[in-house]
Amino acid sequence: MLKISRYELGPIAANCYVLTDEEGKRAVVIDPGAPEGVLTSALDGLTVEAVLLTHAHFDHIGGVDLMRKTFGCPVWLHPSEKDWLTDPRLNGSARWPDVTPPISVDPPERELNDGDTLELIGETFRVLHIPGHSPGSVGFLCGNVLFGGDVLFRCSVGRTDLPFGDAATLERSIRDKLYVLPDDVVVFPGHGPATTIGEEKRENPFVRAARG
Ligand SMILES: [Zn+2]
Ligand SMILES: [Zn+2]
Repeated sequence: MLKISRYELGPIAANCYVLTDEEGKRAVVIDPGAPEGVLTSALDGLTVEAVLLTHAHFDHIGGVDLMRKTFGCPVWLHPSEKDWLTDPRLNGSARWPDVTPPISVDPPERELNDGDTLELIGETFRVLHIPGHSPGSVGFLCGNVLFGGDVLFRCSVGRTDLPFGDAATLERSIRDKLYVLPDDVVVFPGHGPATTIGEEKRENPFVRAARG
């Protein structure tokens, strides 16, 4: 059984998820948003097999360098955002100097594409490309758990007014890639509390389950 720990990191409280295997020996980190000691403490003594990024906005990548330097782990990102880690204008850190220092780190070691299956910490993660909030947004589906980034929140959806965002694309991603999943899939989003696919299909005011 996968063990999931959630940490709210950084100036705008992005969710970072630390996933560990049953024996507590191997870990995957999803969206290390800030270089905070709580994260390195949580991972102390573990083999960090990967840093998986749901997308490369600054609030999700601020701890990437710390993870690489401390654990020597590869970073995975969708190819349409492959230049975002190095470029503070693309990752948005140049836009809010009051909130974050500029972030420029090495590019990703590995790429994530729609339909890929990743074998990590003894689990299988399926990659879903769900663009709209950003062009390279992906979700990671592991059993009946989805780590969905800033696409679908509890009773809300990701903003689409940032550069390269697109509302129609976001809606299509949610309808065609997420609402087709079983109702009992638990969604762990990039901000805020968890929800389920069934709950969002019933309650989400932004993207209804069916048109009309
Ligand atoms: Zn974002
Ligand atoms: Zn975010």
